[in-house]
Amino acid sequence: MNDKVILFGGTFDPIHYGHLRVADYACEKIKAQQVVLIPVLCSPHKESLPAADGLARFEMISLALAERKNFRVSDCELKRAGPSYTLDTVRHFRTEYGKGVNFYWLVGADAVKDLARWYGIKELVDACNLCVMHRAGFERPVFAGLGGVLEPAQVEKLRRNVIRTPLIDINSTEIRCKLVSGADVSGMLDPKVLEYIKENGLYIA
Ligand code: ATP
Repeated sequence: MNDKVILFGGTFDPIHYGHLRVADYACEKIKAQQVVLIPVLCSPHKESLPAADGLARFEMISLALAERKNFRVSDCELKRAGPSYTLDTVRHFRTEYGKGVNFYWLVGADAVKDLARWYGIKELVDACNLCVMHRAGFERPVFAGLGGVLEPAQVEKLRRNVIRTPLIDINSTEIRCKLVSGADVSGMLDPKVLEYIKENGLYIA
């Protein structure tokens, strides 16, 4: 029985060592039995669509997770039409795993500025442990701006759930830019993912 399950949504365009290392760290800290990576179909928080299609991002995640036995990738958001709202996804996993499971939804500190506008944020904070992770290049998470949207106890829950992940200065945008210019990205992502990108001619134009 999995009583602590980490849900980690993202574009993963492509998945990189930043994603993997913070997920490993959070898994250790939380002592979670399982980590589920969930590639988004259409992020309500990003202006542009992913560069790689859902299948390619799903396959790259599968390759990157090959040695992590307690990690899996889910296509639930890829299969759901329309914007991929986190609340809908948490409810999907609640139905799949049942009531006895505690869910921990990971998100990087770059998301804090938008949290007040997330769809159903109050319900989401109650439905899971929304865990904001430290991220290189972004302020340490503070939730002062959420006071008008959330109850004080909910703001306190967000504070308690912050995870001081190691700062790993990698992002997918930089990887895509480097690939276009032919620069070396081998230290930023799993070699199997890089091979997949090259074999499939992703991100080069
Ligand atoms: P892009 O550069 O395309 O915006 P990204 O590198 O931020 O992509 P996403 O797939 O959008 O990656 O991120 C998924 C989740 O992982 C987000 O919550 C993001 O904040 C978090 N995240 C990504 N990279 C890191 C990192 N290096 N450290 C901590 N959190 C990260």
